Amino acid sequence: MRTIGYAANAKASPLKPHVFERRELRPNDVCMEVLYCGVCHSDMHMVNDDWGMAVYPVVPGHEIIGRVIAVGPDVKKYKVGDNVAVGCMVDSCMECDQCRKGEEQFCRNMATWTYCGCDRIDGSNTMGGYSKNLVVREEFALRVPDGLDLSKAAPLLCAGITTYSPLRTWNIGPGSRVGVVGLGGLGHMAVKLAVAMGADVTVISRSASREAEAKRLGADRLLVSSDAEAMAQAVDSLDLIIDTVPVKHDINIYLPLLDIDGTICLVGQIGPEPEFDSMPLVFGRRRISGSPIGGIAETQELLNFCAKMNVLPDCEMINIQDINTAYARLAKSDVKYRFVIDMASLKME
Ligand code: NAP
Ligand code: ZN
Repeated sequence: MRTIGYAANAKASPLKPHVFERRELRPNDVCMEVLYCGVCHSDMHMVNDDWGMAVYPVVPGHEIIGRVIAVGPDVKKYKVGDNVAVGCMVDSCMECDQCRKGEEQFCRNMATWTYCGCDRIDGSNTMGGYSKNLVVREEFALRVPDGLDLSKAAPLLCAGITTYSPLRTWNIGPGSRVGVVGLGGLGHMAVKLAVAMGADVTVISRSASREAEAKRLGADRLLVSSDAEAMAQAVDSLDLIIDTVPVKHDINIYLPLLDIDGTICLVGQIGPEPEFDSMPLVFGRRRISGSPIGGIAETQELLNFCAKMNVLPDCEMINIQDINTAYARLAKSDVKYRFVIDMASLKME
């Protein structure tokens, strides 16, 4: 089918309207009308080709909420009219040990990413959610639970699951002490989710001006990373730190904050980091770890958890025509805390 999206046609170029074809429905595909799409910092990394993986034209968007408008003959889970969601993956081999465990993000044959991925059947470049329609195999569409505000749920599909997954991996619950570095899209979700799980939460930010905001989001305190005295007082005080900083940065300043057996989990910067000191690791069995998104089953668990606990991101709704201004603001950390595109603003030309 013919559809329209917004695409970057070359490295770091502004996004513009782009008409393209979505594939005809395969037997197990659903076709959805995209209602809302979140704006992740990864979208901007990909448009700027920060990871050397971009295939242009890039139609970004992997925080997608939509409504089913057609289904293939073999589809069992969904019918026309259902509210569905799609995150960072649209397919995987579904046969390897990781896929069978429900950890499709670790597919041995590589998951198919929602944009700049290679379709497993026809080899085409995948196009993301900044578009009017999306076609996806039913296993990679999630059910939006009743009661979840559709206009706010989109960021759960990436910012939400990327922070929920490490919180679950490290068994965070009442009594756990969680630190969150960087109060952006991922960071503010990490705070809300950790609070909802009953943890004691510390936001670690570059700026003291974030204190009132951190507390409004539910955090117990703010630690300013440049305040040497406060950082010294906080030594050995955290079980898990989720680090969402999107650029190369020094993690050595955070390691002493971890208690014995504590873990820092990097979910932001993907790529080289400066050297780290092994002393706190060796003498406290501390760990440096990383984590990508989460599997399909865990993402459904997150959506259900958020509906039950009424955990929703703070969103700033924009029209698609404002996307380039939104990127400029995102680059300056000037968003509280996730832009969400109202896709009703995108009309077929
Ligand atoms: P974001 O909304 O821009 O938030 C990033 C936050 O990091 C900022 O709000 C800021 O918080 C802090 N920060 C920004 N620049 C910094 C710098 N130069 N030094 C120190 N701190 C800085 O971005 P996001 O959408 O949350 O994404 C964050 C990162 O996670 C991106 O790199 C994205 O690609 C990555 N990501 C990874 C996964 C995964 O699967 N692992 C999934 C989604 C996104 P303060 O002002 O409070 O310091
Ligand atoms: Zn993302």
